[in-house]
Amino acid sequence: MERTILHCDMNSFYASVECMCNPSISDKPVAVGGSEEKRTGIILAKNQIAKKYNVKTGETLWQARQKCPHLIVVPPDFKKYIHFSKMASKIYNNYTNLVESFGFDECWLDVTGTEHLFGNGEAVAETIRKRIKSELGITCSIGVSFNKVFAKLGSDMKKPDAVTLITKKNYKSKVWPLPVEDLLFVGKVTKQKLNRYGIKTIGDLARTDFKHLETLLGKWGYYLWGYANGLDASPVRDIENHADIKSIGNSITAPRDLMTINDIKIILYKMAESVTERLRENNLMCATVQLWVKDNELKSYERQAKLIVPCAETRELFNTALALYLKNHKTGKPVRALGVRAHNLLPSGSYQLSLDPEINKIRKREQLEETIDAIRQRFGHHSIQRCITLTDTGLSNINPKDEHTVHPIAWPVN
Ligand SMILES: [Mg+2]
Repeated sequence: MERTILHCDMNSFYASVECMCNPSISDKPVAVGGSEEKRTGIILAKNQIAKKYNVKTGETLWQARQKCPHLIVVPPDFKKYIHFSKMASKIYNNYTNLVESFGFDECWLDVTGTEHLFGNGEAVAETIRKRIKSELGITCSIGVSFNKVFAKLGSDMKKPDAVTLITKKNYKSKVWPLPVEDLLFVGKVTKQKLNRYGIKTIGDLARTDFKHLETLLGKWGYYLWGYANGLDASPVRDIENHADIKSIGNSITAPRDLMTINDIKIILYKMAESVTERLRENNLMCATVQLWVKDNELKSYERQAKLIVPCAETRELFNTALALYLKNHKTGKPVRALGVRAHNLLPSGSYQLSLDPEINKIRKREQLEETIDAIRQRFGHHSIQRCITLTDTGLSNINPKDEHTVHPIAWPVN
């Protein structure tokens, strides 16, 4: 059966929420970003008006000010964004239980087979678009298609406040003329590689022999060729249904460049803490930790290491991630974004009792953290904090962005 997938993307999310909560700035250029006094502050989001001044996400406040001297900069308030994100999820859940989030502001919905209740995909998308606008006071763009990759592409095509339909009939005329980097997972490096071989558009990619792409990009070449041809068959993952979680990770772009090892420690700790909290919530532990680092020149790398013993304990994950950082961050360049991910997951409790005192310490700390989880559930996350995270509240006030594994996308091979 042909599927009906929606991808909802709330426009300029952080900036829209700030303007919604403070209407006196909504007709001015607004950006959400790091500290202004420190010249290292970075733009995390901007509204439509700031966009007209060519203010870009990821650049420094100082650069943005050159283009737009009267830019209003608001510090990020992640509690507010999570609240709006939850309100949106409640709306989505009225139409399907198959909702997969992709950051705070984006979600895929599988609404296949709901026509008799809510109308076709386009009709559901229109209903959701209008509800987000009237109930949250912000706009969203929605792509409707027969797979996730094209639905995501559709939500990017018309912004803000719009619905775009990509069907099996129109994808060649609508999608193929677009630049190849518009396709999900085609990053800067892949784009450059493809461009070098004359592959400039998604159509060029679709028409290239996939064997040639495989020699160029490995197995990703084959996947991307499939996406370009509308053959993505990956399911919308119901995150609640965690039976098949493959990894749990958090990554964030810091509100300012991370200059010192203490900055790095604060962020790594926050992320390790949130990853292990989610592991415990899902009754899982992990055997491997992966660190992802992006420096201020937007160069990134990933490294992973095995834990002494599979666990869901913050300090063990933190220590391993920090050791990876110290071993691999040889350039010493300031860091813009960091991620920690737990891999090789297994059910918690599936370990043998150990006589090793080191391992016993880890198990004891794990029990302590379960108690902390219970306190936090009752009195709120901020009711109990680790000292290190209080040394720079500007950094530790962030909430890591939840990320779930992007599963390898499969499609029927003829
Ligand atoms: Mg968005």
